[in-house]
Amino acid sequence: MPELPEVETCRRALAPLLVGRTLTAAEAIWPRAAATPLEVAGRRIVRLDRRGKFLLLRLDRGWLVVHLRMTGRLVVAREPPARTTAAFRLDSGDWFCLVDMRKFGRAWQVARASEVVGHLGPEPLSRTFTAARFEAMLAPRRARLKPLLLNQRFLAGLGNIYVDESLHAARIHPLRTADSLSAGEVRRLHRRVRTILRAAITAGGTTIQNFAGPDGTPGRFRSQLRVFRRGGEPCYHCGTTIERSVVAQRGTHFCPRCQPL
Ligand SMILES: [Zn+2]
Repeated sequence: MPELPEVETCRRALAPLLVGRTLTAAEAIWPRAAATPLEVAGRRIVRLDRRGKFLLLRLDRGWLVVHLRMTGRLVVAREPPARTTAAFRLDSGDWFCLVDMRKFGRAWQVARASEVVGHLGPEPLSRTFTAARFEAMLAPRRARLKPLLLNQRFLAGLGNIYVDESLHAARIHPLRTADSLSAGEVRRLHRRVRTILRAAITAGGTTIQNFAGPDGTPGRFRSQLRVFRRGGEPCYHCGTTIERSVVAQRGTHFCPRCQPL
């Protein structure tokens, strides 16, 4: 599933293709891909933003918001490719398309972006997400870290890959409770979340199965993963076998020696 770095990769690649263009039509080829009516004709694309795993197109009036969910991809093409679920015609004649094998991706047209993304927690790469703020967020919570960090209302943008990688890099077990972290552990986790997200953005995201940038390029961060999908293989740090367990219905990968419970 595309997480923050993959959506940011799409945002950066799409911005030069979309900003300044006017939308002339929209077509929900898979009707459920349109979470709201899409009446975009005549709207100009002013800017591309991202909030968590949502891509936000600022229009001259209102917003177009897209979430890729499991297998969504965004492309700009002369004709909508196979498996396109929603297509937006540009004044250049090209189509901006949500291409989605499993059809869970959604597009919303709203007056205010907050109507879709207002529930999200802080943006982990923002300047206001400081270690002190993270500590204040974690301290009152008794939840286990893995599900808490996946909770988009708590912190926006992380999914299974980057939660497992961040916890391993910070040497913190995924089943620790949030309120059990020392101030030093909070600072370590805060730093690791941010450095890993930045490195993944630099690498164009992680491709496990489907993800590709708008030009079809797979993400290159997979080669830098240290625990995710490495169950049964030796930890690069200590040589102990990486374990895989299921936490909150998600495959969870950790090193039992580097990340003691
Ligand atoms: Zn280890």
